[in-house]
Amino acid sequence: MRERIKKVQGKLKEENLDAFLVTTTSNVRYLSGYSGSNGIIVITPQASVFLTDFRYKDQSKKQVKGSKIILGSRDLLDDLSNIKEIKGKRIKLGFEETNLSYNNYLRLKSILPDALLVPTQNVVESILIQKDKREIEKIKKATVITDQVFSQILGLIQPGITEIDVAAEIEYMIKKLGAEEVAFGTIVASGKRSALPHGRASQKKIKPNEPVTLDYGAVVDGYVSDMTRTFVVGKASKKFKRVYQTVLNSQKKAIRAAKPKMKCSQLDKVARDVIKRAGLGKYFGHGLGHGIGLLVHDFPTVNSKSQQVLLPGMVITIEPGIYIPNWGGVRIEDDVLITRTGCQVLTRSPKHLIEI
Ligand code: ZN
Ligand code: ZN
Repeated sequence: MRERIKKVQGKLKEENLDAFLVTTTSNVRYLSGYSGSNGIIVITPQASVFLTDFRYKDQSKKQVKGSKIILGSRDLLDDLSNIKEIKGKRIKLGFEETNLSYNNYLRLKSILPDALLVPTQNVVESILIQKDKREIEKIKKATVITDQVFSQILGLIQPGITEIDVAAEIEYMIKKLGAEEVAFGTIVASGKRSALPHGRASQKKIKPNEPVTLDYGAVVDGYVSDMTRTFVVGKASKKFKRVYQTVLNSQKKAIRAAKPKMKCSQLDKVARDVIKRAGLGKYFGHGLGHGIGLLVHDFPTVNSKSQQVLLPGMVITIEPGIYIPNWGGVRIEDDVLITRTGCQVLTRSPKHLIEI
């Protein structure tokens, strides 16, 4: 954690700040190791102070590394006025503008009347965007679990089962296999519903010869995996096979292309061009992927606008999809680690068209 705090301290100089307030829960975890909910951190060039309330006394003692711990009231902002590093000082205090509500901004102003509050963007995110070895190990463990679930769940799916039943089985397996929780609400979208990119499982029963899209993830030690597969419960139609093959070609081509120094928008284009050439471009309505880490939607964003350049240690999803309204859809999503020379696909589940 000290390394990470040092990097933030380096950023203070770059951003011309005297202190930095971290309020985003996942960033607090990244910088301290603390996995509870109520915690904030103040970082100055010389110090790092972690604030939480009495409910998390033992937990913070056990988890927090690299910061001095101060126990305060539940309203942690109130206690900032007691931190000697910033108390009563005319300092430039950076805060995370995408996280601090307007209400809390006004409170902060009255709690630290002498401080100049400076909105900042992506200070911690620009550091955590590249994962270290230990983080990558955790993500790998999470991907092993999602792979194991996929190999087991297919045997349970047959016509007549509801989507919600399938989701319940997936989430049970994820936990049974050692994850602390599911990364997000499991998506099970069958038949025409598979045209919904985020079709949360419903009471709909899966019918013979329908496509089914599963999208789910596991959390291991805070770090997530995220995978999607589409298959057919029965026989795939000719059209479905064509759509499936297009998504698969697109996904594989992007994986072959992904490497350091490439712009995220360029990678998106590699995948999108395959779908466009098949005449299905208008049915791929979302970006190619996203980073994963402590969050399911972590940095970088991989879409047609993203100017971010890929760097070794980034872990992103590559998940092109085709969604045809009132017909159905296909998405294939793998978790991919950017290496020094290219990339390594962490998700190992088969990708050929499965008919069960
Ligand atoms: Zn997903
Ligand atoms: Zn995803």
